[in-house]
Amino acid sequence: MLVVQVAALATVAGTITLAPVDREDWICFVLLVGAAVAHLEAASGMERIRELSSEGSPHTHLQSVWFFAAVLLLPPPLIAALLAVSYTHSWLRVYHRRAVAHRKTFSLATVVLGCAAAYAVLSAVYPGHGEPFATALDGPLGLATVVAAGALYRLVNYGLVVLAILMTNPDRPSRKALGPASDQLMIAGAVGLATGFAVVLTTRPWWTPLLIITVLALHTGLLLPQFRDASRMDAKTGLFDPTFWAELTADELDRARRLNGRLGVLLLDLDLFKRINDRHGHLAGDAVLRAVADAIKHSVRGHDMVGRYGGEEFAVVLPGLGADDVVATAERIRAAVADLRVTTVDLDGAQRSIGGLTASVGAAVFPEHGTERTTLLLAADAALYEAKAAGRNCTRIAGSARPLLPGARMPDELPAARQPQD
Ligand code: GH3
Ligand code: MG
Ligand code: MG
Repeated sequence: MLVVQVAALATVAGTITLAPVDREDWICFVLLVGAAVAHLEAASGMERIRELSSEGSPHTHLQSVWFFAAVLLLPPPLIAALLAVSYTHSWLRVYHRRAVAHRKTFSLATVVLGCAAAYAVLSAVYPGHGEPFATALDGPLGLATVVAAGALYRLVNYGLVVLAILMTNPDRPSRKALGPASDQLMIAGAVGLATGFAVVLTTRPWWTPLLIITVLALHTGLLLPQFRDASRMDAKTGLFDPTFWAELTADELDRARRLNGRLGVLLLDLDLFKRINDRHGHLAGDAVLRAVADAIKHSVRGHDMVGRYGGEEFAVVLPGLGADDVVATAERIRAAVADLRVTTVDLDGAQRSIGGLTASVGAAVFPEHGTERTTLLLAADAALYEAKAAGRNCTRIAGSARPLLPGARMPDELPAARQPQD
């Protein structure tokens, strides 16, 4: 890994003065940075899940569209700057405190080398042309050059990552290190989009927003449903179902343990929800559950994982957060639920707006209140009972050595409806 990183640093240092940077380069650079940042912001939640589920395989990040476009458009120092900005941004927004830093710097180094290899192909075929190479690409030679540069970009980046995975996990089946074959298609698509983007930017600059929107829409619109795999989502609320939520939580917990990080868990139960059903009917109750699910999702970060745990019970995992932040998040969720007004159809068929909803929340934090998923959930569940016992509509955080309240159940039994305590 060190060798690769030193090679990447040497490449950046050696090419930094290779080509001058002019005003147009800066304009392209700003556009590409903007596109890369907007892309990651739009897809950060999904990227988190993709990254978690690809543990042990190369993670194909779709920022390749902007990286390869940069190769076709920018001089080497700005390509390196774009990579640095994009990796820093994704570190701060998606991976901070939840990923191993040296893996990310290694990944950055492989992308630097991949870009350098692609750049070398372009400058070998079009010597003396200079940037942007996108204006030189034409005819069969242009096509062959782009294909060769794209293939080499992928081969270097992916090859090095696969090699590192194989060398650090000798006992894991080597097939897993290759990742799914469909990832190669994704990169082929990214190279194609990048080439289109670069050509449009150099010939019809005003059309570039169209292509940026296309990339964002394809990623979030087409890929998102794939991750909203119906069998793993709760149909009523669109949240993760308890099993999938528990799997994701276990993965996050593993990471927190490895990184000596922190992680918060919230269990939320709507107060006296049975009354809503009794007064307005179950259809209205369902509409309220959907609205509460949305309110919770909008009160947390894009990559926090919200699950429906039982009937009117929700669970949230908050990676990287300690006790204070976890309680602040719980309070923000409670405020959002209290502000809700849900317009729905009442038992008599008339439109009605339901408000005045409240929720009780139990919180627990790794590692203070538990180091295993079950002990953490148990601690959060006990805290939730305390919140109910304290009169509802409040948040309680687990006490480190407090005994469970009578009636508290193992988390596996949680999906059953909670009995009111009064
Ligand atoms: P508290 O939690 O404050 O103690 O009171 P509660 O009335 O919310 O408690 P309880 O757990 O007894 O009731 C939960 C109710 O949630 C019972 C059930 O009618 C309702 N419920 C559970 N799942 C659904 C659902 O999918 N749709 C609707 N409409 N109601 C549901
Ligand atoms: Mg309830
Ligand atoms: Mg309940």
